Amino acid sequence: MAAAAGAISLGFPVIADTEVPEIPASRFCLHEALVPEPKHDRIVERVIEVRPITIKLKEIPLPVPYSGAFEGERVRKENMRVQFGGKYSRAFELLVAAPADRIRDGKVELIGDDIDRVPDGGSLPLGILIEAAGRKMAKDFEPILERQVHSFINWAMGVMHMGQRDMIWVRIGREAFEKGFRLRHLGEIIAARLHNDFGAIVNKVQVTIFTDADEVASRIGEAEKIYRERDLRVAGMTDESVDEFYSCTLCQSFAPSHVCIISPERLGLCGAYNWLDGKAAHEISPAGANQPVPKTGLVDPALGQWRGINEFVFESSHRALSKLNLYSIMRDPMTSCGCFEAIVAIVPEANGVMVVSREYPGQTPLGMDFITMAGMVGGGVQTPGFMGIGRLYVTSPKFISAEGGIKRLVWVSGDLKRALKDRIEERARKVGEADLFDKIADEETAVDSAGLLEFLQKADHPALKMDPLL
Ligand code: SF4
Ligand code: ZN
Repeated sequence: MAAAAGAISLGFPVIADTEVPEIPASRFCLHEALVPEPKHDRIVERVIEVRPITIKLKEIPLPVPYSGAFEGERVRKENMRVQFGGKYSRAFELLVAAPADRIRDGKVELIGDDIDRVPDGGSLPLGILIEAAGRKMAKDFEPILERQVHSFINWAMGVMHMGQRDMIWVRIGREAFEKGFRLRHLGEIIAARLHNDFGAIVNKVQVTIFTDADEVASRIGEAEKIYRERDLRVAGMTDESVDEFYSCTLCQSFAPSHVCIISPERLGLCGAYNWLDGKAAHEISPAGANQPVPKTGLVDPALGQWRGINEFVFESSHRALSKLNLYSIMRDPMTSCGCFEAIVAIVPEANGVMVVSREYPGQTPLGMDFITMAGMVGGGVQTPGFMGIGRLYVTSPKFISAEGGIKRLVWVSGDLKRALKDRIEERARKVGEADLFDKIADEETAVDSAGLLEFLQKADHPALKMDPLL
């Protein structure tokens, strides 16, 4: 104890392998001064935690090359060994803050089959649960760190990752598989990159990968509850109540001129970033992809246009866009990258808009399915009349408010319509159209424009009496 006291007074925290009473932070030590850790195999980890030490791996030991150059690489069906999520299986990724003593740094566990147990070209369910601990780790940072998984994984040659939350789609190529790439490598990549890129807040990372169908099914429910809680945090805030919005340029690796402008009432189009997340991300890395964008020089409150935002977008789109209307789909709308949760598109003959979700495989009244439309909308260009969005934007008071808002909604793919039912009804009541929900068509009602029009007329849909969209 005397030796320890001497070390402590020199500013060294002391870890003892004997049972000594713990001494909390003192004026000599920033954190705990004396910590007992009788288990020798845990002592290094404990030291890392107490200091707290930032770990950086110079090179991640992987069987395939790893670099930013592979970020935009696709794994085509012909070259694919196995895939997860998308249309093929249920899959999710979730990052949560965990108490430091509950997790083991660097531990990667696989629950279920590895990919060598799957026939070539097959699929597996997938759950990636990341638990991160650190002195500065906070619940608010969870979504930001989680959203990085996309690029972390994409850097591996022959591995493709798309989407976010419970909408991920991952492919591992045959070549990567033959070189020895296995599921645990996903966890090793994530742990190493979190240490390297976010060492200031993360000191310990544990990753559990699930491919067991039952495990994935039960855990996806828990994950969805967490996603919903995150979405709720920003509910009730308005665009008028803040002086700045946040940008997101994370997707510029795929769509170099794309910039998301995230406001309290309009989340990022991937659905994984809201205004609070933008703010927290900016706190974590002030020079990173999320910057405050001042709402200065109001040009048009109805369209949602500010000079300050135009200037910001001009610079950060590499001078590709000079004007952005946050609340309009017809005039200088926001660009779309590729990971939007849903697409809004005008249906001119119905004088309204339709919304189709990424999960919906069928036809729409526009004569196109999601994939075809995604090809037109994505890539970081403005496409008046079409827009990729985060699902929750549909029920925001700022949803295409320049064109009349939710009253324009004439068709929504059934899965999304069911998921948003309560929110649509609530929003509809607020705009004096209490029975709007039942007037909105879906694929059961019509998948062509003649059928849609007939339904809308019979239902006396408000869009038919609004100002012409075109
Ligand atoms: Fe950021 Fe937008 Fe990409 Fe989401 S879609 S990661 S908010 S740029
Ligand atoms: Zn994107």
